[in-house]
Amino acid sequence: MSIATNIASIMNELPSTVKLVAVSKFHPLEAILEAYDAGQRVFAESRPQELKDKVEHLGQIGGHEDIEWHFIGHLQTNKLKMVLPYVSLVQSVDSRRLMEAIGVWAESNGKTVDVLLEMHISSEASKQGFTFDEASALLKDMESLSGPFSRIRVRGLMGMASLTDDEDIIRNEFLSLVRYADMFAEMFAGSERIGMEERSFGMTGDYPLAVRTGSTMVRIGTAIFGERQY
Ligand SMILES: *Cc1c(COP(=O)(O)O)cnc(C)c1O
Repeated sequence: MSIATNIASIMNELPSTVKLVAVSKFHPLEAILEAYDAGQRVFAESRPQELKDKVEHLGQIGGHEDIEWHFIGHLQTNKLKMVLPYVSLVQSVDSRRLMEAIGVWAESNGKTVDVLLEMHISSEASKQGFTFDEASALLKDMESLSGPFSRIRVRGLMGMASLTDDEDIIRNEFLSLVRYADMFAEMFAGSERIGMEERSFGMTGDYPLAVRTGSTMVRIGTAIFGERQY
């Protein structure tokens, strides 16, 4: 199946309220162009250098300025300048240190940066992300402190479920992210810096379930572009 066919059939399944983020990591520029020609405008990458290279390459080709890039990988604080100038959303903020560094970058570049907090919802120890209490403490500080934090807008939460075939486990993990977002939305109602409208969960293996569970943003790579060649 072609990339265009894949996108069409996924779009057909998604309610209009759910945004499709095409995860193009490890796929060549040609694949992105094919998806673009099929109407896809939101893309995500997980490695700073690869993101920067692709954006610059597209800039040379010209005519793709309406692409919206998201960053979804682990971001080291010394790589910010390879990522933040190019993206409209960092979905994978997973530590206070990173949040502070993004704020400092935003301040010195006169920018505001939109982010999601990556929550640890899976039972796997290796997955990144905040616990509810960690995120809660950070959000309270963001709300009350001036300085670099005032340059960041939190737009919601992101999470990854465990790698398992057990739908009950995945559903419960997704529901915990929804519950966290609902609680934060209540705690920070009316805040200008903290919003919880985006709930980013669901990938190739679990996006239909994610949509049924309340996702607003699915991040899909394999089902659009095929298997990645690592
Ligand atoms: C790679 C990746 C995806 C896409 O995974 P697929 O299974 O190929 O759809 C989604 N989210 C994150 C954070 C990723 O790193």
